[in-house]
Amino acid sequence: MAVNNRMFLKYLYGNSRIKEIFSGSSVSHAYILEGPKGSGKHTAALEIIASLVCFTRNDSESPLPLPCHECPACKKIFNNHYVDIIYIDNNDKTTLGVDQIRKIKDTLYTSPNEGSKKFYIIENAHLMTDEAQNALLLSLEEPPSFVMFFLLCESSDNLLDTIKSRAHIMKMELFKEEDIVSYVTERYGSLYDENMIKKASQNSFGTIGRTISYLENPNNPEYEIQNLAISFVENWMEHTLSETLAFVSNDIIAKKMTKNEICSMLDYSLNKIGSSMTSSNTSKQSVKKMLKIVNAINIAKEQILSNCNQMVVLYSMVLNSI
Ligand SMILES: [Zn+2]
Repeated sequence: MAVNNRMFLKYLYGNSRIKEIFSGSSVSHAYILEGPKGSGKHTAALEIIASLVCFTRNDSESPLPLPCHECPACKKIFNNHYVDIIYIDNNDKTTLGVDQIRKIKDTLYTSPNEGSKKFYIIENAHLMTDEAQNALLLSLEEPPSFVMFFLLCESSDNLLDTIKSRAHIMKMELFKEEDIVSYVTERYGSLYDENMIKKASQNSFGTIGRTISYLENPNNPEYEIQNLAISFVENWMEHTLSETLAFVSNDIIAKKMTKNEICSMLDYSLNKIGSSMTSSNTSKQSVKKMLKIVNAINIAKEQILSNCNQMVVLYSMVLNSI
């Protein structure tokens, strides 16, 4: 009998491979959860944490039994009141430096307050500098038995091999638009109409989290950049070279965006390609083109961050994808 994933873990849709760890025979002391914004990395981390401290937990049953979502510990976790979950983040900076990571070292050996375990959730772990990663390595190598780490990242490519070898890597699943529409309609259909949910799913890049954010705040200025990225990728995939170069000139360069806005637009473009790749009707030829585009975007992003001329970088990016 097929397991109904929606009931299997209350807050995490799909992601059957991650759910498999709940029937496994061991728990890792460190997990790397990899996926774009809104793909459920936090939810997955919180479900694992809840499983470990849930009041209904029976140690003899399984290392990671399903959490009840009802007991005081579960409720605190999902309402963000659990004091033994320590968040490390970069406060919107472009990197996550060693100072933030040192906060872990300073508190690593302090016993947990609420239960028998303490959890560090490192946000944007892909932005850690090498120095920060090396500092983290010391804590990851020999943590006290009551400590667990969750490294949330958009891509594990930026993490050092030494970090990756000490953690269990789990990739978040991206969903097809029709699956998102059906899930969101079932959960939030009384709040939003059909067209709104459909539009939100088109802006979701295959993630439930982004669909819900769009529904909650469709006028967020961020969506202007996101929509631009979606149109750009569609143009790049389907139109001629000269038409795409014209798009770059008229719709991107003419907007005189800041360095961060361009990078954000390129990130959204990567997300859009990522979610298109999961679509069942994508041909092999399209996938080949997508991979070339991904490569060109990654090179362009590095050049933009190194302050190269934006116009030159964007034109070469399109030409590089031929
Ligand atoms: Zn519980």
